Amino acid sequence: MILVVGHKNPDSDSICAALAATDFLKARGVEAMPIRQGEINRETQHILEQAGLEQPEFRTSVAGEKVWLVDYSDLAQAPDDINEAEILGIVDHHRLGDVMTVNPLEAWIWPVGCSCTVLFNMFQIEGYEIPKSTAVVMLSAILSDTVGFASPTCTQKDKDAVEALAKIAEVEDLDAFIKALLIAKTDIEGLSPAELVEKDLKAYPFNGRDVVVGQIELATLEQVDGQIEALEQDLERRCSEEGLAFAAVMLTDITTATTRLLYKGEWAAKLDKHADNGVLMMENTLSRKKQGWPWLQTELA
Ligand code: MN
Ligand code: MN
Repeated sequence: MILVVGHKNPDSDSICAALAATDFLKARGVEAMPIRQGEINRETQHILEQAGLEQPEFRTSVAGEKVWLVDYSDLAQAPDDINEAEILGIVDHHRLGDVMTVNPLEAWIWPVGCSCTVLFNMFQIEGYEIPKSTAVVMLSAILSDTVGFASPTCTQKDKDAVEALAKIAEVEDLDAFIKALLIAKTDIEGLSPAELVEKDLKAYPFNGRDVVVGQIELATLEQVDGQIEALEQDLERRCSEEGLAFAAVMLTDITTATTRLLYKGEWAAKLDKHADNGVLMMENTLSRKKQGWPWLQTELA
């Protein structure tokens, strides 16, 4: 039995790729089961409803198990006891992380917009059919990670996969499908400041210290009007409670690719020269992976 596990604080790709990779392994005749390391977000709920699929089982320990990792390859995002598991496979689209394996493994790591794009190609290469419900989740994950093709992380391979998967999923109106997905993605109503920061928070060990950078995808920055101070206080609280050198959250208007960065911590002063009256805007910034974090690394170095 292989457990297929996405990263901590799961986004839609982490859940959808775990489901799809499980189907892929089963098509090979291997027993497999998807698991998740955290609560699913509203967008993922919407996707699973569309597909008529249940969420993976919640499980944070993998000691003694055989595992496949999807959508990451770094220890910071893996189950805490990952070193007691045997990693047999990785499907990812991020920079190579720091997990170690005992035995040879199969690594499917491509510079594309979504892990599900890699998985789509894996199904093609090995000649397996993709079930309709799986096509729905894969298609949705690709549209989520690429923000409906708008992200600079989006490649032709992602577009080709969406085209093929939309046919299998029998999606007739792709624009309406994307619109409903992005509405679910940017739904933050009723979330507390701490929940907002936590929503898509990632840990980045950097220069021997711990850094976290979150991202809140919005339809308009007005959605967080009146909450800026509370969000900044939450970043400060995380720095003191967790000994972080820097904590930030990207408030990203996905319709205009405009990001406002909120940031706190010992290293915060390094960014102040870019702020105007305490407001740091990052124009033309949609992707944390390709734009936000690379810029921050240069500034924090
Ligand atoms: Mn992810
Ligand atoms: Mn992803």
